[in-house]
Amino acid sequence: MLFNELNLLKNIQHAITDEGYTNPTPIQEKSIPIILDGNDLVGCAQTGTGKTAAFAIPILNLLHRIVGSSSKVKHIRTLVVTPTRELAIQVAESFDTYGKYTNIRSLVIFGGVNQTSQVDQLKKGVDILVATPGRLLDLNKQGFIDLNHLHHLVLDEADLMLDMGFINDVKKIIKLTPDNRQTLLFSATMPIAIRELADSFLTKPEYVSV
Ligand code: AMP
Repeated sequence: MLFNELNLLKNIQHAITDEGYTNPTPIQEKSIPIILDGNDLVGCAQTGTGKTAAFAIPILNLLHRIVGSSSKVKHIRTLVVTPTRELAIQVAESFDTYGKYTNIRSLVIFGGVNQTSQVDQLKKGVDILVATPGRLLDLNKQGFIDLNHLHHLVLDEADLMLDMGFINDVKKIIKLTPDNRQTLLFSATMPIAIRELADSFLTKPEYVSV
């Protein structure tokens, strides 16, 4: 299959072509149509399979319509929660790469650094927020992060979040988001606690495994 058979918007297809990618990887081929249709998804995939683009590309495609047609006031429409700062940075870079011909703004936040510049960026308004759990909850508590307008929630490397002891933080975060959101959960392994998380917080998810 070719990327240009996935019916993506021209400006997103253009950015994919710029990267030199002509064929979606298996996780991308399976996930992109499901996400574009607005369904919840559980993706079982390791790092290196192209799983970041598997959610970044269709989310940008969906966001382009929401952001393009809404007023100038920006709201966080997509939240990606990741276990580590390194992964958060990589994910945000992917959104910037595939969204470079759109006016969608993304921001990455994580703990262990001063919050001032993160807060300044949040105040300017972003469409996509990529965050580690602790800093996200902290800035939400301080009133800098409003998740009431969220459309898409992505839990990336969910098994690692479990291993690192973030599962209760993740549940707290999910409860801050609207019930009618689209939820995507990616995990390299599917331990029982992750299945339970999916059962409790996803709505009729499609399962994709590579
Ligand atoms: P990930 O599994 O998201 O960490 O991605 C692994 C690597 O695969 C990244 O360096 C991507 O840039 C690259 N990649 C993602 N999608 C494709 C694709 N369709 N064709 C070739 N490489 C890709």
